[in-house]
Amino acid sequence: MAQTPWGELPISDAHVHFFSHNFYAGLARQKKVDGAEALAPLLHWDIPLPDPTALASRWVAELDRHGITRAALIASAPGDEQSVSAAVAAHPDRFFGYFMIDPTQPDALERVKAAAANPYLHCVCLFPAMHTYSIVDERLVPILETASDGGLAVFVHCGALSLGIRKKLGLPSQFDLRFSNPLALHPVALHFPKIRFVVPHFGAGLLRETLMLADLCPNVCLDTSSTNHWMLYEGLDLRAVYRRALDVVGAERLLFGSDSSFFPRGWNEEIFRQQTTALYELGIEREQASRIFHANLETLHLRPSEKP
Ligand SMILES: [Zn+2]
Repeated sequence: MAQTPWGELPISDAHVHFFSHNFYAGLARQKKVDGAEALAPLLHWDIPLPDPTALASRWVAELDRHGITRAALIASAPGDEQSVSAAVAAHPDRFFGYFMIDPTQPDALERVKAAAANPYLHCVCLFPAMHTYSIVDERLVPILETASDGGLAVFVHCGALSLGIRKKLGLPSQFDLRFSNPLALHPVALHFPKIRFVVPHFGAGLLRETLMLADLCPNVCLDTSSTNHWMLYEGLDLRAVYRRALDVVGAERLLFGSDSSFFPRGWNEEIFRQQTTALYELGIEREQASRIFHANLETLHLRPSEKP
């Protein structure tokens, strides 16, 4: 339980990046330095041990320190789902397993099939602007059919995309925001009504389109994570964003997330404080708050057999 303006509440975080040794090793190869550890002096971050359960234990201690019940851990490079799976297997009541795939790669479907059979993986993460494909690309069809049949949720990054770690390392980010429009997800979400889709950061700059999408597709949820720097584009503050999201989407489909990622910073409490403050100032009841900050994420990942 964590202290909130409504008193003590259980808190679950829908958006935490699991920066595994494997993840850093991939960046080290791109940076042409010798191994993951060589990134430490460039980033001034802690590089975890190769065994992902060590990083999992560090996250458990960090969640405990803040009174957080559970976090969705995102394997943040294609091919790293085994790191998150090992973390979730070690602490199945503290984590959900999310993993990035690149559907333009030939192994993507096999990876999703394996994940659908793995009780420690819960959600496929798609970054169309990063890997430059359209969400309506036909290569997605068997992947989404597998997710639908296997009870996997699907996270689709929309809107503005920039990766702080790539910037810090001076690595190029040849992304294409033409693939970032949440409206492209409209026919897909309608076609796969059993899949619960998650659009992070309220659509990261495309709030109106994200609200249109969620209004028309009851299987679309929004996560509230990050600094929501995109609010500058619209001249909005967090209260105004939440007000509009609550009016259109409702408290049942909003998932609190922090977008925490690296150590030593650990869990980003400041984001949590900003979000609880904004919602409290809007006069949200405790029951609605407990959905956004905890219950909705738990419900999202009930497997078909567990659903009431
Ligand atoms: Zn993120």
